[in-house]
Amino acid sequence: MKSVYIHIPFCKSICTYCDFCKIYYDKSLVKQYLKTLSKEIQAIYKNEPIKTLYIGGGTPSALDIDELNLLFEMLEIFDKSKIEEYTIECNIETLTKEKLLLFKNKGISRLSIGVQTFNEKLLELLGRNHTKDMVIDTINVAKEVGFNNISVDLIYGIKGTTLEDLKQDIDIFLKLDISHVSFYSLIIEPHTKLYLDDFDDIDEDLNLSMYNYINKTLKSYNYDHYEISNYAKQGYESCHNLVYWHNEEYYGFGLGASSFIGKRRYENTRSLNNYLDDKYILYEETLDDKQMMENEMILGLRLTKGVNKKRFLIKYNKRIEDVFPIKDLISKQLLLDNNDNVSIPDDKLFVSNSILIEFLD
Ligand code: SF4
Repeated sequence: MKSVYIHIPFCKSICTYCDFCKIYYDKSLVKQYLKTLSKEIQAIYKNEPIKTLYIGGGTPSALDIDELNLLFEMLEIFDKSKIEEYTIECNIETLTKEKLLLFKNKGISRLSIGVQTFNEKLLELLGRNHTKDMVIDTINVAKEVGFNNISVDLIYGIKGTTLEDLKQDIDIFLKLDISHVSFYSLIIEPHTKLYLDDFDDIDEDLNLSMYNYINKTLKSYNYDHYEISNYAKQGYESCHNLVYWHNEEYYGFGLGASSFIGKRRYENTRSLNNYLDDKYILYEETLDDKQMMENEMILGLRLTKGVNKKRFLIKYNKRIEDVFPIKDLISKQLLLDNNDNVSIPDDKLFVSNSILIEFLD
């Protein structure tokens, strides 16, 4: 079974660190966009049952109730008889009780909410328009409406912040008592406002101390550190994101979305004009066996469990150690092999990129 990602690029305001595919919310464009999205889905989707459905953005919750109803009507095309998870991304300032009730009613099982921080000065720096109290109130309403599978995104490693600031954010997060958190270190990407303002990266040692503090604290509250940046209570790992990390197939529909079907990987245009003209695809490639195996390792090693050796053998008819120089990495203690899985040791996850590069030709 394949998974499905739907991209809704509209945002009511643009965050200072954002390099995602997004555009300002414009009512007149939303209808046109949804119409094109529907055409794209109908042209490509083959009526098979889907494993997970993820509505991301942008800010899907920026759509008004009528637009959301239209979106859900379009998504009825998908065969959800075997669906394992149905997520929508939201941000706090656009997430009302009415929308939460609609999501519940439409079968959404998981909310992924952009919070980033509870510190109001940092929220301003990041260009987010909510407050700590708004987060607490909204999450309480979401729970009242019946959502028990809620994830929040948080950001650490912002230059000028201290370990004490991070502790305060984690304390508030823990009091919310929710099941999942994605904790990202701030990256200053080109073309963002922070980049243009010459905002600096945080000191690397302090960033590492923050990462270690997050790991230690969340683990002590029974959050499993299951992926470099993701932590979940037992049974609440993101099924949809696991599809990516397991290198399984998915359709991506909408502006800038990417897809991976069979051995074909393709990426949609980020140009709204081209997209609305039904010129969806920007780039595509067919992967050879070596590239498939490289991706399997690079994606799978993001998981703390790592890559399952038996699964790799069944999928590629080759042993990991016959394809990649893992013996060398194991002897340098950059990889672990416990006979079932090959993984990156906990204390090396922070520098995983320098290990993953060894798997590229
Ligand atoms: S809400 Fe998300 S997609 Fe929109 S500007 Fe902010 S970070 Fe980017």
